Amino acid sequence: MSLIYKSTRGGEGVTASAAILKGLAENGGLFVPSQIPALDVPVEKLASMTYQEVAYEVMKLYLTDFTEEELKKCINNAYDSKFDTEEIAPLAYADGAYYLELFHGSTIAFKDMALSILPHLMTTAAKKNNVSNEIVILTATSGDTGKAAMAGFADVEGTRIIVFYPKDGVSPVQEKQMVTQKGKNTFVVGIHGNFDDAQTGVKKMFNDKALAKELADHGFQFSSANSINIGRLVPQIVYYVYAYAMLVKNEEIKNGEKINVVVPTGNFGNILAAYYAKNMGLPIDRLICASNENKVLYDFFTTGSYDRNRDFVLTSSPSMDILISSNLERLIYKIAGEDPEANSALMSALSGSGKYEITPQMKEKLADFYGNFADETETAGMIHDLYTETGYVIDTHTAVAGAVYKKYVKETGDDKKTIIASTASPYKFARSVMTAIDSRYDAMDDFALIDELSKIANVAVPKAVEEIRTAPVLHNNQCDVDAMEATVKGWLGI
Ligand SMILES: *Cc1c(COP(=O)(O)O)cnc(C)c1O
Repeated sequence: MSLIYKSTRGGEGVTASAAILKGLAENGGLFVPSQIPALDVPVEKLASMTYQEVAYEVMKLYLTDFTEEELKKCINNAYDSKFDTEEIAPLAYADGAYYLELFHGSTIAFKDMALSILPHLMTTAAKKNNVSNEIVILTATSGDTGKAAMAGFADVEGTRIIVFYPKDGVSPVQEKQMVTQKGKNTFVVGIHGNFDDAQTGVKKMFNDKALAKELADHGFQFSSANSINIGRLVPQIVYYVYAYAMLVKNEEIKNGEKINVVVPTGNFGNILAAYYAKNMGLPIDRLICASNENKVLYDFFTTGSYDRNRDFVLTSSPSMDILISSNLERLIYKIAGEDPEANSALMSALSGSGKYEITPQMKEKLADFYGNFADETETAGMIHDLYTETGYVIDTHTAVAGAVYKKYVKETGDDKKTIIASTASPYKFARSVMTAIDSRYDAMDDFALIDELSKIANVAVPKAVEEIRTAPVLHNNQCDVDAMEATVKGWLGI
């Protein structure tokens, strides 16, 4: 049976491959499957499968217009030796929780889980839809997406990628990773603004019909590698299914036993994937949404009111420094009874006054979720205490989740087995991580810190970090927020 993707703001449905190519629907909505398919392989069977095999079983239910051969090829090209472990997403137990390590790919953050496959899905989708234009991937990043997307798309034929990041809003390692990116088809720009400015600028270009026409006249079309693309969301469902099957396999839980999942959240993509996994029938109980001091989602889950009118806080977990969580729209659409008009009204309120309020009936449907946040002190304390007690070192984003999980247990007494999505390697945020463990580390330079981290954590320095030690800077572009379109055109030569 073929699954159709509808825009959250109404209109005709499209196939999975068309939704991946478009990224965002023409009316500004996000594509959602017209129904969430049920998992049709028993967990006992999934428990004996490799990551790649589980990926096929999950993704085939969503990408129904891809042939078995096409999909398996995409999967095998993505989840290969770019990952430093055959398990792809291993689980590590520490202090009462299972950390699902999603950072073993080429850029050591969880974005690799989806962005190593997206270019393959997209070029396959282009062929299926007889697209001859060159695909221009337009991306706004809070730090990790940009690098992971460029690593995925670099030198992929028929594609170009342009990345905008907040010049002063990413970690030194994140910036160095981006500006050293190889590949003739890659272009990186630091903007004088924050992540929301970058994301808003990118969305504006996507929605600009005149610009789309101008691009088409020159043989280009935009697509998106941001987590609004359904081709990002679907591969992220896989690791929740895989992790559950691994817990069963390792006899940590009984088949059918409910677990909780904690996700450090920014754009709401990762936790939405867990929600989809739950709706497919995976025995997940609570979806625990962890925010940093930009706690717009915590306020939303507790009050039913979403309000972005507040100060944007730069924290030690920059990939979660977000006030407009784009993927939340998919949840809003669902709890609005899949009513595109109701959803559109709320979204235009958000882009107008910067806030909206859901109805009590909608709020009732959020019972699967629990939201809380951790401030900077709590986040650092989490890293410090977990290391002191167990020797396990986590990054700042994962620490936000760990700290929120502690609050959740304290508040509810819920002792179900719990998976914490571990979204970045501590090496990516070495300074924040090391100074949380001991403030005297702050005196060391970045690479000395990395060597010290390797010693205390007893984990080899990842290849991604080794590489940037000596890599030459290949990109040195900056622009103002209102010059983003001109920058894109300039690079494309139109
Ligand atoms: C992107 C990112 C997040 C937030 O994920 P969303 O899907 O945007 O909610 C959390 N941690 C890290 C390290 C990330 O790169």
